[in-house]
Amino acid sequence: MSLTAAPFTSSPAFTEKLDQLAEVAIKVGLGLAPGQELVMTAPLDAIPLARKIAEHAYKAGASLVTTIYADDEATLLRYKYAPDAAFDKAAAWLYDGMGTAFKSGAARLAITGASPLLLSNEDPAKVSRANRAVSIAYRPALDLITRHEINWTIVAAATPAWAAAMFPNDSPEEALAKLWEAIFSTTRIGGSVDPVTNWKAHDAGLHKRAAFLNEKRYSALQYTAPGTDFRLGLSDDHVWMGGGTTAGNGLYCIPNMPTEEVFTTPHKDRADGTVTASKPLSYQGTMIEGIQVKFEAGRIVEAHATKGEEVLNQLISTDDGARRLGEVALVPHSSPISQSGITFLNTLFDENAASHIALGQAYTSCIKDGDKLSEDELAAKGANKSLIHVDWMIGSGELDIDGITATNTREPLMRKGEWVG
Ligand code: ZN
Ligand code: ZN
Repeated sequence: MSLTAAPFTSSPAFTEKLDQLAEVAIKVGLGLAPGQELVMTAPLDAIPLARKIAEHAYKAGASLVTTIYADDEATLLRYKYAPDAAFDKAAAWLYDGMGTAFKSGAARLAITGASPLLLSNEDPAKVSRANRAVSIAYRPALDLITRHEINWTIVAAATPAWAAAMFPNDSPEEALAKLWEAIFSTTRIGGSVDPVTNWKAHDAGLHKRAAFLNEKRYSALQYTAPGTDFRLGLSDDHVWMGGGTTAGNGLYCIPNMPTEEVFTTPHKDRADGTVTASKPLSYQGTMIEGIQVKFEAGRIVEAHATKGEEVLNQLISTDDGARRLGEVALVPHSSPISQSGITFLNTLFDENAASHIALGQAYTSCIKDGDKLSEDELAAKGANKSLIHVDWMIGSGELDIDGITATNTREPLMRKGEWVG
């Protein structure tokens, strides 16, 4: 016999945490201004959080909150019944409309929570055509976001499908409760400190770390861990970034919740040695495990994986830039996501779990005045260019990192995965 406990998602503790998550999303993540419009996207299963966010947006003075819901089941119906030619089509009118909203002052909030396995059984060619069509249609609006013209943020909501993918051995209720608890704790909700205060202190900490690294102006980083002996040069005029940023519209926002990384642009021609991944890489529905890669003069010359080696080799053959690095990010091993020990199968979380590097496209905002430079000028400074940007985790409690100064002296930066000093 067992006592039937009320599910976590109908408990007062849950309701309070959901309210706090919505409050930090609006006040700290988005920094919504009174009178500002808000465009929100959300999975259907995230309605309770989306409504809480709308409530806090209006309390903060929003003029209008428009939420666009995504229906996973309807997406699957398209793959089942739509004609082949349909997969090159995207709702261009919708993305144009979102771009118009952003240009006229709207803020942007995305709730992530779709199943990471939603399209794993669909035809990969159709999936990539559909993704490409959306990328093309969304690019003008997305440009305003990636260039930080407007205030924007991403938060997560637990959904049954995502929870089932993460915790396949638990009952649906238990899996959902576990995922919500993991989202709350890693998003700094429900601790002893008020979440808004907690987030402001955390953001200040990330800025301080980035400022320290910008002052140091290391020319390279040296990584040492079991299976890793790797020297990575940083791009000329690189800028370390982390935490919140003031958008072009003057409003301060923290684009990712959670965020734990400070990151910059490595030099595309200056990576040498061997790197071993510390976590599996989930890439388009495939798990690539036991990655070990050898770099010479910035380029991958050998790539191995104990599982998914073929997919890895396909990935790095996408274009010339796919064999080179576009991002280097430092995350302490003690970060809440790393300590949770959970793989979320969602970049927002997994990218913030450990120190990582990314194959492919560099962030131009991590180069001084990068947004004003031509492609040739950016390349001359070492910024990589590629159609892909794939992060993979190399951080662990066994990773040591040294900063290498312009005069070639080594300074301890991280020991056993933690910041020195
Ligand atoms: Zn990153
Ligand atoms: Zn990245």
